[in-house]
Amino acid sequence: MAKRPNKDAAELIPDRPSLSNVQAAAKECQACDLWQRGTQTVFGEGGRKAELMFVGEQPGDAEDLAGHPFVGPAGKLLDRALQEAGIDRAAVYVTNVVKHFKWEPRGKRRIHKKPNAGEIAACRPWLDTEIELVKPRAIVCLGATAAQALLGRQFKVTAHRGEFVASTLAPLVLATVHPSSILRARDDETRRLETKRFTDDLRKVAKALA
Ligand code: SF4
Repeated sequence: MAKRPNKDAAELIPDRPSLSNVQAAAKECQACDLWQRGTQTVFGEGGRKAELMFVGEQPGDAEDLAGHPFVGPAGKLLDRALQEAGIDRAAVYVTNVVKHFKWEPRGKRRIHKKPNAGEIAACRPWLDTEIELVKPRAIVCLGATAAQALLGRQFKVTAHRGEFVASTLAPLVLATVHPSSILRARDDETRRLETKRFTDDLRKVAKALA
């Protein structure tokens, strides 16, 4: 495929943005090299007026193929935790700081590779527009990449997980672990405990929103 010139993502955002026309514009994004590696842009999804937005790192293998965020194993864990916390999945908006799957081959598998600062910055206009359009009352950052992108590079999820932090992005902002990290727990008991902690973090957000 001939390489087309890259554009700043902000230049692609329509003059009168809506979730649907911004999502359509993001399909054409080539603002960083990741468009060449992923199958498609995986834009955020959820209610136009969702009170709660989850922001993860990037789509995974299953999301890249499906074209929808949080539909793979980590998304399933998120779904179960939302249900346990009494949060309606249909009433939240889920997205990522980077909209293309970054991976490297290992045998026949595609292994997740962390996006770098340049890729995160290139993709940021899409996330900023999603936040502007949805105007969630609460944003939950899932994992260090999302938390550091939104709350600053010094932010440590290990030190501040489950705490509401001051931010101009939304009235309530909290960071917790990414559900994929729970799936990688070393044993079943750790996974059970981490799932409980994660669910407790979501309960805290639900309570604050009530
Ligand atoms: S990762 Fe983001 S900035 Fe890079 S090409 Fe995809 S949509 Fe554009």
